[in-house]
Amino acid sequence: MSRPARVRILPAALRHNLARVRELAPACPVWAVVKADAYGHGIAAALAGFAQADGLALVEFDRALALRGAGWQRPLLMLEGAFAPDDVLQAAQAHLSLVVHQPEQLHWLASLPAGAGLEVFVKLNTGMNRLGFPPASLSGVLAALRAQPGVGRVHAMTHFANADRPGGAEAPLARFLAALPDPAIGVSLANSAALFDVPAARRGWIRPGIMLYGGSPFADRPAAALGLRPAMHFESRLIAVQALAPGDAVGYGSGFVASSAMRIGVVAAGYADGYPRHAPTGTPVAVGGVRTRVVGRVSMDMLTIDLTGAPAARPGDPVELWGEQVPVDEVAAHAGTIGYELLCAIAPRVSRLIED
Ligand SMILES: *Cc1c(COP(=O)(O)O)cnc(C)c1O
Repeated sequence: MSRPARVRILPAALRHNLARVRELAPACPVWAVVKADAYGHGIAAALAGFAQADGLALVEFDRALALRGAGWQRPLLMLEGAFAPDDVLQAAQAHLSLVVHQPEQLHWLASLPAGAGLEVFVKLNTGMNRLGFPPASLSGVLAALRAQPGVGRVHAMTHFANADRPGGAEAPLARFLAALPDPAIGVSLANSAALFDVPAARRGWIRPGIMLYGGSPFADRPAAALGLRPAMHFESRLIAVQALAPGDAVGYGSGFVASSAMRIGVVAAGYADGYPRHAPTGTPVAVGGVRTRVVGRVSMDMLTIDLTGAPAARPGDPVELWGEQVPVDEVAAHAGTIGYELLCAIAPRVSRLIED
């Protein structure tokens, strides 16, 4: 008698999307980005789906240690680096690689014993103005790192603010390349958008995230057109059907009023499950394989959908909130957000099923 709201995760889709990454950049080692609990898909699913990745990248130290505990022996990159001095030694002990993006983190490395061999990715700020050293300071940072006996291999990296817009990575990439003092230094540049659209960023370690989960990094290009498969299927069931007469309203605030007689379905999924409350009337949803629309306001545990196109629908019928028939990016666009946010926001009370 469990509540029917659930997510079904498809490791086969994760594997397919990783293969798509390899197709785009066959020579590049891949950091599969698994921050935020693998974009909401769960670490177990990520381990099943990304067994062929060269490394995993994330921001949460407890999760990185859990991955080591679960048997992941390849590289792990901490994308925001150390948060406190103690993290550095812990990172070295667990063989984590650290991004170093600001001077304090550089100083913390001094606590490492000689020979610790901690791998470092120096982050350069090429215009996003979030994390990173000014490109012109790279040679100074590299000299400081060389003076630390506990530091091992050093790479340079940056993150693009606008790789999803035509030409948006050009100037940052030029700034980055101009700062490299030694052409032999390892680099890491590309997120999902850059992998598709910035061929010059397909070098060194690449860092795909959203595309691995079957989401599109672009506002105007559907994931299917990019050759990606959705790895998360958010599903529930109808728990009631109502017949409305013209003028009848639905839900809180009477946000939808029927203009003619119609049936609506009540779905056991709401914003407390991670469905966006801002999804307005018209947001796509599928019932029993038929695409239809949300009507009225999304509430905590329920949402209501138009059954006009599904006259046989009745309580118990399966509903897809997003997944195969309803791309998460479409729901996100209706709700004024991006697929990333919806994938990450599935609530703990939603049951999870990993296929295979
Ligand atoms: C999250 C993240 C990525 C992945 O970005 P996508 O747009 O999901 O591909 C890559 N690099 C860094 C530094 C990140 O924080």
